[in-house]
Formats: sequence, structure tokens, C-alpha cells
Amino acid sequence: MTENNQTVFGKILRDEIKTDRIYEDEHCIAFKDLQPQAPVHILVIPRLHIASLSEADENQALLLGHLLLVAAKLAKMQGLIAWRTVINTGAEAGQTVFHLHIHVIGGRPLLWPPG
Ligand code: 5GP
Repeated sequence: MTENNQTVFGKILRDEIKTDRIYEDEHCIAFKDLQPQAPVHILVIPRLHIASLSEADENQALLLGHLLLVAAKLAKMQGLIAWRTVINTGAEAGQTVFHLHIHVIGGRPLLWPPG
């Protein structure tokens, strides 16, 4: 966890980059991915800056659970009955923004295993 969150999601949280929020509460916000990989592609991010899941600790257990429940709620609000939640952790796993986020992806058939 760091105070100086210069990631793009930090800028979105501070409204330095304008993004339509589709959900927000005291712990997190959610918005559509800029480059959607499916008809529904939402990002759920905590207000707290945690660089990645690798940096999370026991103190954030409730927050992490909350993020997952918000992800499920938003997926269902979008009309999905099946979807994928993804947390890329580390550059080699595809993480490009180092502010923890959950992808909610759905609205088309999704292959498994992912690439
Ligand atoms: P990652 O690759 O780190 O798991 O996911 C980062 C995601 O953030 C990518 O899917 C990328 O398209 C999205 N993204 C990056 N910059 C922006 C932005 O400025 N606005 C929005 N809405 N999404 C962004």
C-alpha cells in the first residue's frame, strides 16, 4: 500500500481523468474498461491504493470480499448469468495498472484456459 498513487486508476479516483462511474460506495468504484474485451467489461477498484493482490494483507480481507461481491452485483445488474472475474497479478500475468482491480468480463462465450 502506498500513499502516492500515480497510476491511471489513482487519477480516475481523484477525477484527474474523467470516467463515467457505473457504481461507487465508500470502499470502491467501478467503471467500464477503456478497451473492452467483451460486450461487458467492467473494472472494480478499491479507493485504497493496493498495488496488486500480491501486496494485500489480512487487514484488507473484508475489503477484498466486498470487491468480489460488488463485482458479482454489477455482473448481474448488467444482465449476466455467467461471467469471468479476473485479477491479473504482476506484469508477466498481464497486469498493466498497479492499482488492484477486478475485471468483470462477460456477454460472449469465454474460452478456458486463458492465454
Ligand atoms: P490489467 O492489464 O492491469 O489487468 O488491466 C488494466 C485495464 O485497465 C486494461 O484492461 C485497460 O484497458 C484498462 N485501462 C487502462 N487505462 C484506462 C483508462 O484510462 N480508463 C479506463 N476506463 N480503463 C483503462
